[in-house]
Amino acid sequence: MFYVWQDAAAEGAVPMDHFPIFLAVAGRRVVVAGGGAAAVAKLRLLLKTTARLTVVAADPAPEIAGWADAGRLVLIRRAVAPGDATCAALFYAAHDDDALDRQAAAMARADGALVNMVDNLAGSQFITPAIVDRDPVTIAIGTEGAAPVLARRIKADLEARLPPALGLLARAGQRFRRAAAALPAGPRRRAFWADWYARQGSTGDLDAALDDLLARHLRRDTAPGRVSFVGAGPGDPELLTLRARRALDAADVVIHDRLVPPAILELARREAVIVDAGKTGFGPAMPQAEIDALIVAHARAGDYVVRLKSGDPSVFGRLDEEIAAVADADIAYDIVPGITAASAAVAAIGQSLTRRGRNAEARLITGHDVAGFADHDWAALARPGAVAAIYMGKRAARFIQGRLTMHGAAPDTPVTVVENASRPDERVLSATLATLGTTLSAAALAGPAILLLGLAPRDAAPNAQSAQPDMLDMQVAS
Ligand code: SAH
Repeated sequence: MFYVWQDAAAEGAVPMDHFPIFLAVAGRRVVVAGGGAAAVAKLRLLLKTTARLTVVAADPAPEIAGWADAGRLVLIRRAVAPGDATCAALFYAAHDDDALDRQAAAMARADGALVNMVDNLAGSQFITPAIVDRDPVTIAIGTEGAAPVLARRIKADLEARLPPALGLLARAGQRFRRAAAALPAGPRRRAFWADWYARQGSTGDLDAALDDLLARHLRRDTAPGRVSFVGAGPGDPELLTLRARRALDAADVVIHDRLVPPAILELARREAVIVDAGKTGFGPAMPQAEIDALIVAHARAGDYVVRLKSGDPSVFGRLDEEIAAVADADIAYDIVPGITAASAAVAAIGQSLTRRGRNAEARLITGHDVAGFADHDWAALARPGAVAAIYMGKRAARFIQGRLTMHGAAPDTPVTVVENASRPDERVLSATLATLGTTLSAAALAGPAILLLGLAPRDAAPNAQSAQPDMLDMQVAS
């Protein structure tokens, strides 16, 4: 994953009023004045540290008394007084009472401690960030007091994204730093660590896993890696090609689209780094330029990169942009074709894309492109017998319906919608040009769907029994 650091000065951003640091608190005094909810909340965080905690409170909450009984902090049962913050690194005024906090803060400042007043930004010399704790990895999130709700959202997002085992990985990594020096400093060593930290939720024998990973990286020759653009097919793992299987077996990195299901990703080597290019932290999809850069960066570091695309990589897959990026970087690549969604969809309805006497051509078209609903040769598509597989057509369905009708297509022209073709949740909706819009609205499709213009499911076709010559040798898929 790439993080872009912006140079605040260069961007003309507002300078920081708060400078984030990690304070060494081991064995140092931290004093909390107050015994209510605010104090308890701060103490929950502070108890994660190795600081020596003192709480000064006339009327401490039961949790605080409990922590004192357990020896986790020193409790002084009285109101805060001058000298309480002597030699303290940090002091929290946490009375849930602004007047009391002001008095306490003034005393503590006089004692020479750094002071925080809970919920009082102006009166605080430091503020406590929201924290994501994957010890030894600690992420501090601050908004300079401007948007605590946002900080909490970012925290929740990171909590969900960072595997709980990240801390274990980091600790094992720390022990392994010297061994990793066997790799030359620079891209190769960075790639090794990137591989290591991309392991999701790994546990087990981490030291052995590190040895294994290092051996693999040492074996890799220094020549740049290579890239395979691999078709993953429509979703059923059985519809992968043998070559796709082999590529997944060998991949160091798999960069996949949103539509590639987990059942296929599971076939990748256990150590492979899996990157979901259909998703980023806060946005819907990784920008194309970022995907290109990611492929190139991994290949440059010596990885065998499998760029796994749903269906066939050459069909509405932005393949050319990625090939250009890889070729420009002088990296070797190959293309492994896959079964495109149209093939899976016609198989699902027991039909052919082309049929002697009906259509000598079939079109693969897209419902929309970057500019919006895509334009096509509607007159040709409106002709009797025309067959087209319409990708990304769910939202464009009414537009397509309108254009075809305008160009004289018969309202009873069959249009079949196949959702999740080849997957366990496959659905077939049999419609006509006239009923397409309402059929789609009623169905509320959630998965990927393809529209087959000019094709009805074989069972539903009026001439299903009158066997045509080339129907006889067709296998009807379930
Ligand atoms: N390269 C892919 C197409 C990518 S565009 C291929 O060759 O199949 C994405 C579109 O493909 C989706 O909007 C949908 O129209 C279609 N699609 C992909 N997988 C599908 C599936 N299992 N069932 C139906 N349509 C699918």
